[in-house]
Formats: sequence, C-alpha cells, structure tokens
Amino acid sequence: MSKHSGETSAAELELAGLQGGAVKLGEPELATLAARLSGTMLRAGEDGWDNAVALWNGMAARQPALVLSPHTARDIATVLAFAREHQLRLSIKGGGHNIAGTCIAERGVMLDMSHWREITVDARAQLAHVGAGCLLKDVDHATQQHGLATVLGFVSEVGVAGLTLGGGLGYLTRRFGWTVDNLEEVEIVTADGALRTANRDENADLFWALRGGGGNFGVVTRLTFRLHPVGPAVYGGLIAWPFARADEILARYRALTSEAPPELSVWLMLFRAPPAPFVPAAWHGERICAMAVCYSGDLQRTEQVLAPIRALGEPIFDLLQERPYTELQSYLDCTEPKGNHYYWKTEYTEELSDALLSTWRDLAAECPIPEAELGILHLAGAHNQRDADDGAVGNRNARFALGALGMWEPHEPRAAEFRQWVRDAWGRFRPFSCGNYVNFQTADEGEERIRESYGENLARLSAVKQSYDPENIFRSNRNIRGAGS
Ligand SMILES: Cc1cc2nc3c(=O)[nH]c(=O)nc-3n(C[C@H](O)[C@H](O)[C@H](O)COP(=O)(O)OP(=O)(O)OC[C@H]3O[C@@H](n4cnc5c(N)ncnc54)[C@H](O)[C@@H]3O)c2cc1C
Repeated sequence: MSKHSGETSAAELELAGLQGGAVKLGEPELATLAARLSGTMLRAGEDGWDNAVALWNGMAARQPALVLSPHTARDIATVLAFAREHQLRLSIKGGGHNIAGTCIAERGVMLDMSHWREITVDARAQLAHVGAGCLLKDVDHATQQHGLATVLGFVSEVGVAGLTLGGGLGYLTRRFGWTVDNLEEVEIVTADGALRTANRDENADLFWALRGGGGNFGVVTRLTFRLHPVGPAVYGGLIAWPFARADEILARYRALTSEAPPELSVWLMLFRAPPAPFVPAAWHGERICAMAVCYSGDLQRTEQVLAPIRALGEPIFDLLQERPYTELQSYLDCTEPKGNHYYWKTEYTEELSDALLSTWRDLAAECPIPEAELGILHLAGAHNQRDADDGAVGNRNARFALGALGMWEPHEPRAAEFRQWVRDAWGRFRPFSCGNYVNFQTADEGEERIRESYGENLARLSAVKQSYDPENIFRSNRNIRGAGS
C-alpha cells in the first residue's frame, strides 16, 4: 500500500496526490506496476528521461515523478487503475507543445503517448487513422503521399492529439473548418479503464465533448480524420514591407480578407526582422509588416488571387512561390525553437475595426521585446457555417485570431518586464474579443478563460465530464470541472 505521510526512505518515491499533498510509494509497489506493464517506466536520471520530460515552453518546465510509456490500451488501463488506487496526479503527454505545460503535473505520473506514431491512410475513403502520439508532420507527410490533407496547424512539431482535442486551426480552416470538424472517430481509454470508440453514432455524447473539450475525458489512443484533396503543390511563403507602411498594409489586409476565396489564408505579422539570410542586412532588427500566405486552390489562378498582395509593391523580401504543401506546413518551425521561454495572449475577434487596427499598429510600434509578434490570422469560412453547438469547440463567430506572442531566452534579464508588456498589450486588445482558443491559454489564465472559450457549450461539457470522469482523474489540462461548477 502507498503511504500518505511520514518520512521518505531511500527506496521510496514521493508523488503528488490527486487531492494535493504527497503520496509515498515503496519499491515493491513500483516494481509491481512495472511488472504489469508491457511498456516502460522511467525515473529521474534514467536513460531517456530528459527527452521524455522536455517541453517546448521552457517557462513551463516541471518534473514528474514517473514517466510511463504504455504500449497497449491495457497498459493505459493499468496505469489509470494504479493512479486511482493510490490517488496520484496524472498527466498525458502528446507533442509537448502546450504553452501552459499541461502535459506534466509536478511530481505526478506522466503517461507518455509520444511513441504511438502509427498512421494508416485509406485514400479511397479519404480517411486517416492516426496514433495519438503523432506530430503534425507525421500526418501531413503520410496523407500528402495521396494528395490529401486534413486541417492541421502551422508548426509541424506540435502534437496531433493536443491540437485536435482543443479544436485545431491552420491554413485549411477557411476551407474545411476547425480540425475537429474533420474528426470522424476517436478511440479512448476512459477513467474506468474501458477502451471506447466515440463517433457520431457510438458514445455520441463523448464524441461531442472530445471535439474541443481537451484532455478532460480520457487517454486518446487513435484519431480518425476526414481528408480532402490538397496540393501536393500550393503557393505560399512569406512577404514583407517596412513598418512605416503599417497603416496602408493593415487596411489592405482588411480589404483582402473581406474578399479572399477560402483557398487563400493569410496571417499578418508585425515583428522585427530576424538576421536571416533572406532578409537584407539593412533590415536586420528593424520593424516590418509581413504576411505568411497559403493559397491551396487552382494554381492557374495564383496571380489573380494574390494580386491584392502583390499590388502593395516594393517588398523587403518576397518568398512567395509554388512549393510542396508539406514544406509550407513546416515553414515556420524555425521561428519557435524548443526550450525558449514563451508568453502569449490571444483572442478571437469578429471584425477588424479601425480602432482595432490602430491599436495593433501602436502595440507593434511600442513593443520592447526583440523577438515578439503581433499577429492577425484570418479564419473566416467553413467553421462559421456550423451551429454553435456543433461539437464542444464553439467560437463559431470567430473570423480572426489575434495574438501578442512574446519569446525570449531562458536567462533573459528583462523577462518580467517583457511578460508584463504582453499582459498590458492584452488589456488593450481584449475589448475586441469575441472568444478565445483554449489551446493558446497560458498557465496563468484561470477558469473564467475556460468559460469564455466554451460559452454556452460549457454546461453540456460539464455533464459529459461528470459521467465519464466523476473523480476528475484527468485534471492536468484546461480543466472543465472547476470552470463548469
Ligand atoms: C509553436 C506552436 C504552434 C502552434 N500552432 C498551432 C496551430 O497552428 N493551430 C492550433 O490549433 N494550435 C496550435 N498550437 C497550440 C497547440 O494546439 C496546443 O499547444 C496543443 O495543446 C499542443 O498539443 P501537444 O500534444 O503538442 O501538447 P502536449 O503538451 O503534449 O499536450 C497538451 C494537452 O493535450 C492533452 N493530450 C495530449 N495527448 C493526449 C492524449 N493522447 N489523450 C488525451 N489528452 C491528450 C492533454 O490534456 C495535454 O495536457 C501551437 C502551439 C505551439 C507551441
């Protein structure tokens, strides 16, 4: 039996308890668990530990007490039973990219799903069956072999499970909706240890909740996505102009996004130019207005579709060209190196009013963080055409995402000032919000933000949570229990 108080002997391991406090486990209990698993158990200092606990956001770093890598659904059920028996904190790791670091509970048990990387593409049925540990690049590469794709995000190292369970958005959102609008089925081990299939007919309430409700309902083992013909060549990349032209470029962006066909997705970014080879030396460190572009339609029409962008003339650099879709999907990877400190604030908005655009220009002009971005992402399209309660994800009125994204190195002396600047900037664009994306919330965002994310869908989400996870075993996430009660 585990002990809940008293001293820790050399052979005991102290873990975080589900209800707070510490739980001490002795060598025999740990050995019994290890013997029951076909997968592996790691403790701090063992081979593979550092890699297993590494997070994308160095600011969110923390240490679990145990890392368990299940090989089978039965392993997962064994770990869940063990965690319940000993009342242990549990977390689930996919791609390790959640900015709040939710995949690790301090001193908890971390279920490492990153080895579940199997993918099967059924090209004829236009479906992909994806292991829960896959990264976005795994899926894009497998589906593009058949000229197919589903809606996935902009950085290829992000985990598919975390992205999908929170809703999911990317260059194809305007055409095909949120990622969860393309989700056909989920296989999941719920808190009671049962392996369940959830789709529109089977466990339909659970399926509804999984379409945006995050990691609140169990350990997902497989996701099935609807695929669409995309690429394999698309047109896109990055193009930039001087920040001195910000007013003109912001106005053109608004005009462009009001008319753009759904195949065109443009992300406006205001930031300081990096010292990259494609940036003329005179512009290194200078403020610029850039557009990250993806046009996934008929390539014969590229010139016509991109005319409003090209009409802006005289770019500092123009990297727009035909390229493989998979290349565009990893094009921004180098802008988000693993281990740096990241602090973001994001909102959805319905329209780009004059007041919002001038606020955006002012914030970019004032931003003291050398590596920060003020971004506006155009999302309007397919997802707006569905009902507000079509899946838990909500935010069906969002037409743009706004983000103040700060990045700095781990020992940056001005870190506190930078973080405060992002918070203050947020205060200035929050009035334009019509909702927010649960997957972009930082660790310091509380329950009211979860409520804002789900809106009217929260009550139903809480009811599903209560029936599948009454003890709130799955709480290392944007937790529905606190927000919904
Ligand atoms: C650089 C960067 C770029 C991003 N770009 C986009 C983008 O373009 N579009 C977009 O929609 N989002 C984007 N995101 C946000 C991203 O969707 C979330 O950070 C997401 O949580 C990452 O998932 P993960 O599996 O990598 O994270 P992890 O930190 O491993 O997991 C996050 C949470 O997901 C849940 N989870 C993961 N795996 C499972 C599982 N098998 N079963 C049950 N629950 C699970 C758990 O609750 C876990 O705490 C981006 C994030 C970063 C850091």
